[in-house]
Amino acid sequence: MAEVPVTTTPVPIQNAATTAKTSWLDGFVADNPYFQAGFGLMAMGVGLTVLRQGVVVSTSALQRRLLVSLEINNKDKAYEWFLAWMAHQSNAPAVVKNRAASWIKSHQLSVETMVEQRKNGSSSAVFKLVAGPGNHYFRYRGAWMQVKRERETRAMQMMSGTPWETVTLTTLSRDRNLFTNLLLEARDLAMKSQQGKLVIHTAWGIEWRPFGQPREKRPLQSVVLGTGVAERIQQDVKAFLDRRQWYADRGIPYRRGYLLHGPPGSGKTSFIQALAGSLSYDICIFNLSERGLTDDKLFHLLSNVPERSFILMEDVDAAFNKRVQTSEDGYQSSVTFSGFLNALDGVASGEERIIFLTTNHIERLDPALIRPGRVDFCELIDDAHPEQARTLFQRFYGGGQAITGLSDSEVESLAQKLQDMVQSEWDAGKRVSMAALQGHFIRTEPQNAVDTCYILFK
Ligand code: ADP
Repeated sequence: MAEVPVTTTPVPIQNAATTAKTSWLDGFVADNPYFQAGFGLMAMGVGLTVLRQGVVVSTSALQRRLLVSLEINNKDKAYEWFLAWMAHQSNAPAVVKNRAASWIKSHQLSVETMVEQRKNGSSSAVFKLVAGPGNHYFRYRGAWMQVKRERETRAMQMMSGTPWETVTLTTLSRDRNLFTNLLLEARDLAMKSQQGKLVIHTAWGIEWRPFGQPREKRPLQSVVLGTGVAERIQQDVKAFLDRRQWYADRGIPYRRGYLLHGPPGSGKTSFIQALAGSLSYDICIFNLSERGLTDDKLFHLLSNVPERSFILMEDVDAAFNKRVQTSEDGYQSSVTFSGFLNALDGVASGEERIIFLTTNHIERLDPALIRPGRVDFCELIDDAHPEQARTLFQRFYGGGQAITGLSDSEVESLAQKLQDMVQSEWDAGKRVSMAALQGHFIRTEPQNAVDTCYILFK
């Protein structure tokens, strides 16, 4: 049997499979509405992303061209001025203020509380409401501005532990000159509130900040000290201030330390404040018992006091009992006695430093503290001497019949009677403080004040 050759067309098996697959895929793609929709969505997503990027890029380009921003951080003086200015703008009544800025009332406020701890244990707190973190808007001289206050909570300022803060002002480019006007206004407002007043600074972290509102200056004559005492201190301070060049020529640190000692209520603090006011100086009050105060912070603070300021440290005897600084409630600060001395000596810079220390117990002070170079001038401010009592009485009740109902001669004879009384008690070793006399005079009328004065002696 002959074999019949069978010719078969070779079937490309591979191709057939591919074709079958492609056609299946084509079919799937063509027929599957879900896939088509997904593909469409993807394309749309890409398109939108590109569009969004485009919008972002063009918006920021537009912003760069049209807007201008000014950043102020809390290390800058203008920061406090600006916040105070903002608070002033939003607090002043609209009719009165004739202000340059009008506010959309801010709903995010933050409070700045400052506490002053007095040496008698009492304390006072001052609250200031300022714009809080977030966005605020206002119009200033016809231009809209955005204020963005931000707080960096992760990074703290070295040593002070206070967070970094910035305010960013944004407005239209064409109004950029308004920034300068606004800052000048803020500065003038800050300066105006201090003009002719006494500014007391307290430590805030490692910075000095004004405590509360600037105070009316106390006339120097209203603090009645023993004969010649006020004049001696005043002359010494003035002589020191006139000798800056003398110190510089000899390479001596330009600093002077004063120690006023004596019983409580004799006028030490009042006199220092009145003296600062009379010389147009500020006062930086230092509380050594403050929690969290360390040698480093103390050193930093004392090396960075605002210009034209007295440094006042009260009751230094209590501060370093047995060379360990302990507050009344037993809290032991981490300020060491040597750290304190170090800070007092300070860096040998040309900067002027006038330090006033006060104490009720000079005998408790460590000799290392009162050596020359740290304390250059020491003065006793004592209880009421008979003449002081007389002068205080005259200051209180003098001034004419219209005010006290007493003629000048009546006031004089009562003042003499008081002086004699204080003198006889003084001779018997009894004393009265000027603060006690002042309190007595405030409470009662002149004749009675003299008649009942004996109750005050101790
Ligand atoms: P100190 O610092 O000596 O303890 P302060 O200066 O704090 O005394 O005085 C306490 C109060 O007594 C103040 O209100 C002050 O007006 C009054 N006072 C004390 N001493 C005098 C003084 N020498 N002259 C006038 N007032 C005085």
